[in-house]
Amino acid sequence: MRDLLNFDFRPYTRPFQQPLRNHHGEWSIRLGILLRLEDGNGRIGWGEIAPLDFFGSESINQALKFCQSLPSRIMAEHIGQIPQSLPACQFGFESAWEQLQFYGCSNSDRAGNQQSPPTSILLPTGTAALESPQLFVAGTNPESTTFKWKIGVAPIEAELEVFEQLVSLLPAGAKLRLDANGGLSWQQADQWLRVCDGYGIEYLEQPLPPDQFDLMLKLSQRHETPIALDESVATLNQLQTCYQQNWHGIFVIKAPIVGSPIQLRNFCQTHRLDIVWSSVFETPVARRYIETHLVATLPAGRATGFGVKHWFRDRWEEDSAQQLWQRLSTNPLRTTHR
Ligand SMILES: [Mg+2]
Repeated sequence: MRDLLNFDFRPYTRPFQQPLRNHHGEWSIRLGILLRLEDGNGRIGWGEIAPLDFFGSESINQALKFCQSLPSRIMAEHIGQIPQSLPACQFGFESAWEQLQFYGCSNSDRAGNQQSPPTSILLPTGTAALESPQLFVAGTNPESTTFKWKIGVAPIEAELEVFEQLVSLLPAGAKLRLDANGGLSWQQADQWLRVCDGYGIEYLEQPLPPDQFDLMLKLSQRHETPIALDESVATLNQLQTCYQQNWHGIFVIKAPIVGSPIQLRNFCQTHRLDIVWSSVFETPVARRYIETHLVATLPAGRATGFGVKHWFRDRWEEDSAQQLWQRLSTNPLRTTHR
């Protein structure tokens, strides 16, 4: 592919309505980058770089430096040569390049007119979950609603108490998944899983840190509640390693930080994995790509983890990529090529 592409990028800043608390700490602003590729025929592809350095991806500054280091015209063949140390950049550029080729016209940007797959709703951490409006707004199909709640943040006794109240507030038939972000000890994970078994919790996500893979394998054999790996499978290499080490549980995939989306799709199409497609609080640019080019290319599975739009103050969710791009034209963080 010796095509020459016009390349431009615009950093964005999205504050959360309230900080997101999990075992890694508190997070209050999503920083990312939108990018735009255009070929000689006027075909446009939109991409997004949404790093998550506490999951091991590059930082936003590293991603920005990479974008700034590129000229305003790049060779398409260079996209496949982005180093593995920049997985969020690999995703952003490859997804933009693929969309440019796929849609083949300047109207490649389809906002809001596609059917999104069922998604789980992320509740606030701690007791705030009990007052979350999302719990009380009955959807058209409450029995198919899935909620997610973070644990491993406060002492286990306190969290178990809140958990019992939370379960009693769930709409009839709704599912609940828990996410510890690697914040539990073996004993705590075992205790949580016993409780989860009693309540039919959908799954417990990343109970132990990634370096305790063998223990998580053991835990998964002791309990009925499935365990999902998330931090353990942040990149495609890690995903492949866990699969080769006989992980038969759930894989939570955060595509924007996994690396090459094309290699990811090939791997998922080749192997029958139990997948949850999860959010890194990306904009609709990355989310629509994931829904169209990854989720829709595989058999339907569990609810995705994209139910996070209520975490933002802005109204970007319905915007097209072009509209988002225009919103960012006056962004003070705008940084240009060298
Ligand atoms: Mg997680």
